[in-house]
Amino acid sequence: MTANQWQIGDVKITRIVEGEHAGPMFLLPDATRENILAMPWLQPHFADAEGNCIVSIHALVLDTPDRVIVVDTCLGNDKERTFDFWAHLQTRFLEDLTAAGYPPESVDMVLCTHLHTDHVGWNTKLVDGKWLPTFPNAEYLFGKSEWEYTEAQMENPMYAEFIVDAIKPVIDAGLVRFVDVDEQISREIALVPTPGHTPGHISVRIQSGGQSAIITGDFLHHPCQMEEPLWECTADWDTPLAQKTRIEQLEQYAEEGLLVFGTHFASPSAGRVVKKGEYFQFEV
Ligand SMILES: [Zn+2]
Repeated sequence: MTANQWQIGDVKITRIVEGEHAGPMFLLPDATRENILAMPWLQPHFADAEGNCIVSIHALVLDTPDRVIVVDTCLGNDKERTFDFWAHLQTRFLEDLTAAGYPPESVDMVLCTHLHTDHVGWNTKLVDGKWLPTFPNAEYLFGKSEWEYTEAQMENPMYAEFIVDAIKPVIDAGLVRFVDVDEQISREIALVPTPGHTPGHISVRIQSGGQSAIITGDFLHHPCQMEEPLWECTADWDTPLAQKTRIEQLEQYAEEGLLVFGTHFASPSAGRVVKKGEYFQFEV
């Protein structure tokens, strides 16, 4: 088993990394180098010796007995984006996905934890000047309430850019099914509502053979938020609700001891939440 693969009962989980980098955490104003260095348990995986946070953008492939599901589709290639460092990417994401045993045609389902630019990008790819679904045989699942909220943001250019090139084309192709935030997707896979970062944000629960795991999505972006769940995240839609969701979820994960996959957690990316004092830490 490679470093980026896990087994939960009958479900094989594979992490496909689009990019990983160290730097200041611009979404978390309180995550200064000084504050990050005050959490030595973050090193070496989630912070470097200078107090920079290490973050990842990746997809998780869930290979279940009856379907292959891709959770979150990263940024994508060739996209025009407001943030320079996310624009016109040329990564090997699709080649890496194929090399892992999952050519795009083999994917049965695509699931986005929420509709933000770094979770929907590979929904489409550029072919002869047109944005076409990357996964032509897949059903794409978007949260109903999440899409209602997102669709209403068209006036905001940072939403419009990805709605137009990464969401609308798959809706127009008839590949999207809008789901409830607590829907059971298959025998092993269920959605869990985790609102706050966005209104219809979901996490993804995997349960098989007596083992459990969860994919967080962006109700937290970095393990430092386990020790400081009340730190404000500037990308959260509703700060108090996001704080409440973080604490409730982390409390539950610590009690259950299940395997936790952070959507932006750097390698090795999965681990267990443990209670330390009032709040938590992450053990890998
Ligand atoms: Zn994200």
